[in-house]
Amino acid sequence: MRHAMVIDTRLCVGCMNCVVACKTENDVPDGFCRDWITETVRGAFPHVRLEIRSERCNHCANPPCVYCCPTGASHQTEGGIVAVSKEKCIGCKACMAACPYDARFPHPDGYASKCTFCSHRVAVGDDPACVSVCPTHCMHFGDLDDPSSEVSRLLVSRAHYTLLPEAGTRPHLFFLT
Ligand code: SF4
Ligand code: SF4
Repeated sequence: MRHAMVIDTRLCVGCMNCVVACKTENDVPDGFCRDWITETVRGAFPHVRLEIRSERCNHCANPPCVYCCPTGASHQTEGGIVAVSKEKCIGCKACMAACPYDARFPHPDGYASKCTFCSHRVAVGDDPACVSVCPTHCMHFGDLDDPSSEVSRLLVSRAHYTLLPEAGTRPHLFFLT
């Protein structure tokens, strides 16, 4: 099992439903977000298009945030979700410095926080909250190890990329172009 998210940049309209759903589902404190929207202009005038992406922790297969954690609070779970054990976290912020995607933030209660792929929902067979509320259905969640899963089929049939591949982190978030 390798959990992954595939996001169709041609369908995202930047409505931020995913951001609001995540904050609500995960009780994210004011002033912070576990997911966010970015915009990139592609092409050259006059053939330009605005690419809108819903971004979050990439649940990297080679995660520097895990390797640098001095207490073992940051870890990979079975299925590849990168998680933080609140009770083990001392709030040193080493993981925040190590993450090339700026995907973590210091929770006011003193621990590092970030996207969990809504592991509590995934455990009972539901999609992450962001995926479940997207009005254009631009986000897909599933198992990369299952060739018949929607995420696997999309990655076979569509051009895609990951963010900062040069960082060597091997993200589990893929953007369809
Ligand atoms: S995106 Fe950042 S926080 Fe998430 S697994 Fe990768 S390095 Fe760690
Ligand atoms: S802030 Fe917490 S999770 Fe991050 S490196 Fe320090 S102890 Fe580990």
